[in-house]
Amino acid sequence: MTATHLGSSPAATSLGELTFDLGEDEVRRRATSQLDRAQQSLEALVSAAGPRTVANFLDPLNVLLTDVRDVGSHGSLLFSVHTDPATRTAGREASEASDRFFHAFRLNREAYSALRELDLSSEDAPARFAVEKMLREMRRAGVELDPSTRERLLRLNEAIDLTGNRFSENIANQERSIELASSDELAGLPKDFLAAHPPDGSGKVRITTRYPDFQPVMTYADRADVRRRLLHEFANRAYPENLPVLAELLARRNEVAKLLGYPNYAAFAGEDKMVRSPEEVRAFLERLAGLLRAPARRDLETFVERKRRDHPDATSVEPWEAQFFGPGYYDQKIRSEQFGVDMRRLRSYLPYGRVRDGLFGLCHELFGLDFTRANASGWHPSVEVYDVTRGGVLLGRVYFDLIPREGKYTHAACFIVREGLEGVRLPQAALICNFLTAGTPPETTRIEYPQVITFFHEFGHLVHALLSGQQRWLYNGQGNLEWDFIEAPSQLFEEWARAPETLARFAVDPETGERVPDELLSRLKASASLGRALSWLRQVGLSAVSLDLYSGDPAGWDLSAMARSAHDRYSPTPLPSEYHFEAAFGHLNGYASFYYTYAWSVVIARDLLSPFFEDGGLTSTAVAARYAKEILSAGSERPAAELIRAYLGREFRFDAFEQWVTEPAHLPPAA
Ligand SMILES: [Zn+2]
Repeated sequence: MTATHLGSSPAATSLGELTFDLGEDEVRRRATSQLDRAQQSLEALVSAAGPRTVANFLDPLNVLLTDVRDVGSHGSLLFSVHTDPATRTAGREASEASDRFFHAFRLNREAYSALRELDLSSEDAPARFAVEKMLREMRRAGVELDPSTRERLLRLNEAIDLTGNRFSENIANQERSIELASSDELAGLPKDFLAAHPPDGSGKVRITTRYPDFQPVMTYADRADVRRRLLHEFANRAYPENLPVLAELLARRNEVAKLLGYPNYAAFAGEDKMVRSPEEVRAFLERLAGLLRAPARRDLETFVERKRRDHPDATSVEPWEAQFFGPGYYDQKIRSEQFGVDMRRLRSYLPYGRVRDGLFGLCHELFGLDFTRANASGWHPSVEVYDVTRGGVLLGRVYFDLIPREGKYTHAACFIVREGLEGVRLPQAALICNFLTAGTPPETTRIEYPQVITFFHEFGHLVHALLSGQQRWLYNGQGNLEWDFIEAPSQLFEEWARAPETLARFAVDPETGERVPDELLSRLKASASLGRALSWLRQVGLSAVSLDLYSGDPAGWDLSAMARSAHDRYSPTPLPSEYHFEAAFGHLNGYASFYYTYAWSVVIARDLLSPFFEDGGLTSTAVAARYAKEILSAGSERPAAELIRAYLGREFRFDAFEQWVTEPAHLPPAA
């Protein structure tokens, strides 16, 4: 199937010519000229005489705003992936300039009046819903307020963007580390980790708080003191520098909420989500905690029992002994000793090339999508570029950037590269992850199993972006979906990496051609629920932190004490007083008060899986087709609750999540 086939409409929708190989001056010049052009078009549109119509006002406004959104997307992509630091800075500035444009647009009285005057009586429901969302966004920005308040809001929002960026940058840039007297202190770690961390001239080894160091050490290091020291540094990243930055961010957002007539920022932010108010979020968290406390206690008892083999008097586990901020030592021990799950053995069946092709195969079978290598380059020679077609029709383009390098974004995320608009242009999106290693052949490089799950998760966002990127209106795309629903499709995708029947399809050792043994898959399945309730209860605690900190004016608050108290309200193990994780809790910027999104989305995601299980399993093509149509392709053309109802044929329920999260690990009888 050719990858360059374009849509059949005469005004062929195109990918557009995107260039990533740009210097800082060129990035600035392009962003400035695109935003200036958009500003002039906007002024011409709002000042035009005569009646407003969809054709003479809404259509051009839609394209103009999409172009502005693209300036921001392109800028933030360059900021996250470009090899030249100066270009990264220029990318960040372009993204901030695009945000400033939107802040000003939302407060533009003329545009607001023009939108309200539009006659939409002959338009379809998605068009009316798009305009309704634009008007709501403008009202929520304060467009109806007096000029001096609008001016104050504009300045505040610009300041919030800058403060938020400073908060995130402090987390990204401030690496902390511990120094070990010798490699002996790393007993228990895999050989490749030791090889990558050779001692310096005096025999010492430095271990940083970056994830590629932190995760293996917390999981495998036999020396508890090494884990304790590293976790102490990790839990104090960006501390104390970020505390005043956080206080400023909270204060400014609180002021915005007050000016707009809300009691606090959490109340403001809740209004356009599925969960409407902070009270509803609190009730949700309480309900979840009620489900999770007993199974989480069971998880903890299992960890303490295992610890007693090493320390017969143990009555509890410390944060550096069991999962706290991620992986845990005893967690891993129990999986390998009692369940016989050897993660290193599992890893040998997970070469990147096979995993990726397995994912493509599933997407073909379930959603009819075909991924073909594109004759195009990305922003780095290692970036893979694919064109995506369905039934021979080009849907968009995707980029995979999977190898870490200096200055690159260090987590895993799906970035929008270009917004799609039906009949005008096709969506493009990128997976920015870091699970491959520079200098090794990617096709045969093995991926850790948790990273395979992350890969599937981010791929879920990517497929959602592609399918929802065929909407006519920018405001009906993925980017305008209720924020507490956007994680559901990606969490659902994870299940294809977890379920033995789908995992078995692509988990093959490339050297021997051997498929992953059934026995290893069933051990993995039996151990899967170990620690699950505990980790979701921690998510409830973190959600409470994000909600509490945005519940009022932070003047005079002790942010660390508040964060600790919210965390300890739910966590079965208290947060040590010398930890200041709130200084590096990056979501307090991007997600503000709605960190509960992850927990809320997973409850929905578990329920969205139910029709698959009722129809024979995860590869039911009938259910997949309904899912693609009612959820993925629908973008945000209707409220999320309606999309869910259309797909499930009912309201969503807690049952599937409750069953999943309370199912005990099937611990085999002691040997
Ligand atoms: Zn996600």
